[in-house]
Amino acid sequence: MNDCVDVLVAGTGPAGLGAVFSLLAARPDLSVAAIDSAGISTGGLCNDCKMNFTFPVGFPEEYWTAEQAAPLIGETASHLVPEILPTRDVHVYARRAERLGVRMLEVRQSHLGTDGGVRLARQLQKTVEELGASVSLHETLVDVRAGERVAVTDRREITYRALVAAPGRRGFAFLQSLMDRIGIPYVDNVVDLGLRLEAREANYPVVRDCYDPKFLFPDKVRTFCTNSGNAHVVKEKYAGREGRQWFSLNGHAFSPERGSGAGLVNFAMLKTVRLTAPLASGQEYAEMLGQLAMVMGGGQPLMQRVGDFRLGKRSRAESFTGDLYDFEPTLKSCTPGDVSLAMPAKILRSIWKSMKLLDTIVPGVLHPSTVMYWPEIKLYANRPRFIDDSFQAAPGVWLIGDGAGTSRGITAAWASGIRAARGILAAL
Ligand SMILES: Cc1cc2nc3c(=O)[nH]c(=O)nc-3n(C[C@H](O)[C@H](O)[C@H](O)COP(=O)(O)OP(=O)(O)OC[C@H]3O[C@@H](n4cnc5c(N)ncnc54)[C@H](O)[C@@H]3O)c2cc1C
Repeated sequence: MNDCVDVLVAGTGPAGLGAVFSLLAARPDLSVAAIDSAGISTGGLCNDCKMNFTFPVGFPEEYWTAEQAAPLIGETASHLVPEILPTRDVHVYARRAERLGVRMLEVRQSHLGTDGGVRLARQLQKTVEELGASVSLHETLVDVRAGERVAVTDRREITYRALVAAPGRRGFAFLQSLMDRIGIPYVDNVVDLGLRLEAREANYPVVRDCYDPKFLFPDKVRTFCTNSGNAHVVKEKYAGREGRQWFSLNGHAFSPERGSGAGLVNFAMLKTVRLTAPLASGQEYAEMLGQLAMVMGGGQPLMQRVGDFRLGKRSRAESFTGDLYDFEPTLKSCTPGDVSLAMPAKILRSIWKSMKLLDTIVPGVLHPSTVMYWPEIKLYANRPRFIDDSFQAAPGVWLIGDGAGTSRGITAAWASGIRAARGILAAL
């Protein structure tokens, strides 16, 4: 790889790839280099890989209108070639939901599963190299001297004309420090906080009609990232300020080729929280909640059966065997306990109310055996004050993807990359 390029893209998730594909399609003569600190893109492309092709799913509405997103969703689909999943009888659930003041979105969605997603990511990576980009894995962007247009990685210095930083959600702390160092102004972003639920598929049969049903409840609560078939709850490790680690929960499923699993479904119930005056940091708040869960769970996230929660008592190891509690949670390392000791009351109240509404739309999901895992936390970097519509945050520096808050899903991340590429092409 040259140490002097037209465009350097840091991060080969969908946002970074969207930018590289678009740049090279328009200007094959450009020298484009992509680096990634991991061996393969680490985000949703390789974790369950459900792709949504309907606005506004994944598109933060402060940056996107339906008109802006529509053509880019089409362009994104031409690269990701999704097989849209069939849905059945969605109108039945949608009507029930509407009567309760809940909205059910009709979403065009595909699902590759974690294994299928890894195959797609490898294939996309190979294609960008065939198009002429140089890809360097296990290389991390550590600093930027924006005035000189020099990017410092853990291996070398790279001179660029345009830099795209797309480090994803896990890279939000890096992006934050980069904005501080370069002097990019920002405002505090929202955080999404909630529970991951795990239930028997028979108790949440809507997934047989629609793989990832999206319900929008009052109080900014929504269902998110539903996994069924060979599905598992997983935990992701985060390093907070002062180096203290905490876990956030997530879920994924393998493709049907990898077997049918234990007949369980998992999905998140998330509430969006935006803190306002007095100036407070939503991220710091969310991290403290993550750490509080670690304290309550003896270093692990918490889990509680709905049956115990309803009776106002903590779950214990005994709650995870026998009679009504008749399935084993897929994430066994969590600590049985009392989520209400670790969740702020307002968040718990909104989510529990939404769970009861959901149980009226899909009766059964609040079966006593259903497991509530806490915490599932989605952090985004503080929102940069962009200087133009293509997500340029400082002269020559574009910040995109989930880390920068321009997307909350694979397709919107890719679309952000296309938007940045157009800005870069105009600037070059
Ligand atoms: C477990 C999990 C499951 C998910 N499932 C889905 C799903 O099914 N459907 C969906 O639409 N969305 C899903 N998402 C969200 C989805 O991952 C993101 O919306 C999307 O991947 C964002 O794309 P991105 O390019 O911004 O970031 P990412 O995909 O996270 O990619 C960022 C890349 O940057 C690299 N990187 C980070 N820091 C640096 C650095 N300093 N230097 C160089 N490289 C760096 C990382 O290694 C990573 O490969 C999931 C997310 C997670 C974490």
